[in-house]
Amino acid sequence: MTQTNTEHWTTRRLLEWMTAHFESNLIESPRLISEMLLTHVIGGQRIDLYANVDRVATDTERETLRSCVKRTIEHEPVQYIVGNTWFYGMEFQVDSSTLIPRTCTETIVEQTLHFAKLSTTSPFRIADIGTGTGCIAITIAANLSDCEIVATDISQDALLLAEKNAEKHGVQKRITYIQGNCIEPLSSLPPFDLLCSNPPYISDPEIAALEPNVGKWEPKLALSGGSDGLSIIRPLIQSAPNCLVEGGVLLVEIATSIAGTCLELASSNPTLKDVKILRDRFGDDRFLRAKKC
Ligand code: GLN
Repeated sequence: MTQTNTEHWTTRRLLEWMTAHFESNLIESPRLISEMLLTHVIGGQRIDLYANVDRVATDTERETLRSCVKRTIEHEPVQYIVGNTWFYGMEFQVDSSTLIPRTCTETIVEQTLHFAKLSTTSPFRIADIGTGTGCIAITIAANLSDCEIVATDISQDALLLAEKNAEKHGVQKRITYIQGNCIEPLSSLPPFDLLCSNPPYISDPEIAALEPNVGKWEPKLALSGGSDGLSIIRPLIQSAPNCLVEGGVLLVEIATSIAGTCLELASSNPTLKDVKILRDRFGDDRFLRAKKC
């Protein structure tokens, strides 16, 4: 891309050049990332690139693209560079204050909608602990008109982002955001019908082994579950029943490596029943589900 003959830098050539450059730097999904970056820089949809492959990039576009390429080589996730991602069919603004929403987490949304449909409570009251971008609370609110959601996060920056995302999707009236640690902000509120969370659950040894695009870029605060991965989940399982109505549901995303311990912790809690570990779509044990007795 340093070549001076600018008229040659068509969409086709830029995509080819970036893909090869990313490939040789061992960046995963090189073609997809190239398409996402170029779309981000020139605007429109990814599909538009192929409708106009001979379009020549301007000097300013090439300059912006060059900085995006540099950031990608440093393993910065493409979602942070372009500033958005998709979750449960909806677009979310993301930045380095929050975790990038993962497809796996959509199971929490599916499960919540399932339990809400079975319930006769109106409105169905939900708490989302550690909301991050707000992806869980917002997709639930967008798919469930008769609900009231409280979303918490320890990070004020994350909450500001979540509020922006809620406004973008027009669900801000159904979600109240409260800053605070774990479920502490819920202690003075009436009990909930369902409490869900994708808490930080990666143990210190696992953090050290993360891929650089995760370990180097995503916030430790959103990832780290301390020495055994349970520093947030343990108190969450212990105190969640205090914040639930009788029969209320607890849904927590967990790491497969701690599924056995989570099952034991919840099963030995006398205020929880129907304790179950659920699998994700790849067959891995990834969620804890229980009900308040
Ligand atoms: N709830 C957000 C998500 O699922 C953030 C989770 C977190 O920060 N651990 O992506």
